[in-house]
Amino acid sequence: MAKSDPKKYGSLITYFEGDYRPWHEAKVHVFSPAMKYGAGVFEGIRGYWSDKLNKMVLFRLLDHLKRLEYSQRVMRFEKIFAPEETSGPILEVMRRNSFTEHVHLRPVVYVDGDGPNGAVGPIEFAVTAVRSGKKETVNTGVAVQVSSWQRLSDLTMPTRVKANANYNNSRMASVQAKHDGYGAALMLNQKGHVAEGPAMCFFMVRNGVTVTPSITSNILESITRDTVIQIFREEIGIETVERDVDRSELYDCQEAFFCGTAWEVTPITSIDGIPVGDGKIGPLTQRLIKIYFDTATGAVEDRRGWLTLV
Ligand code: PMP
Repeated sequence: MAKSDPKKYGSLITYFEGDYRPWHEAKVHVFSPAMKYGAGVFEGIRGYWSDKLNKMVLFRLLDHLKRLEYSQRVMRFEKIFAPEETSGPILEVMRRNSFTEHVHLRPVVYVDGDGPNGAVGPIEFAVTAVRSGKKETVNTGVAVQVSSWQRLSDLTMPTRVKANANYNNSRMASVQAKHDGYGAALMLNQKGHVAEGPAMCFFMVRNGVTVTPSITSNILESITRDTVIQIFREEIGIETVERDVDRSELYDCQEAFFCGTAWEVTPITSIDGIPVGDGKIGPLTQRLIKIYFDTATGAVEDRRGWLTLV
């Protein structure tokens, strides 16, 4: 039985293998391939309470569900849950929990069972949603360590899918960074170029140019990264350069930040103890944070169809 905090989660409703069930009933057996090998894929999706709309809104739901479908295909699951099948339970979990504050949703598709074809099925689908406010580090920024753990290579595991097993790589880097007194890790890839953080993509502003590692740097093709590139282009008038980023550039940039569904837009104040710019949150990052939250929480008109109202 999961040891998750009953006070925090005990009253929540989940979707689990075909039904809506109380939190503590959403259990997978210790002998399942999901448990043994991390044979599962997932998404992290933000639900925001929109003051303006007086409703919960889900940010870029369809894009997340398309990526969930892609992840299942790459992992060769014998049944694929398409967006048409996954969106209904997600919206119903939102409704049944009557949320009126920010949440983080986690749809997961996993291999469960020990059939003749145990490596690829049977496949199950579940959804959890937990209350999760805006990250405090969005306001404070984080001190970052370049990890001695390398980001997974696409030769080892498919890096652009959200496979559960990939996250032990992120976990090692995060644990090391926390142990060494940093707020977050930044990983290099096997070519020695900057890849990403554990669960977030990296951007920097160097000599007036906004730069992010290209999508062939063994990063996840992040939806927030795409959101940021679009906001920069359409609302701030800046083109982001997607290219290889070297480690030594990190110590000479004027602004830097992480972005991701859970990390939102999190400023980076130092890297390996060297301040980024003057060590404060830079003006472009600050401007981006405001636009990002206005967009994701429906404070401004949803021109791109990114919001799903609950
Ligand atoms: N990289 C990894 C490894 C991640 O898990 C995430 C979180 N999904 C990200 C980057 C950011 O991706 P997104 O913006 O789609 O959440």
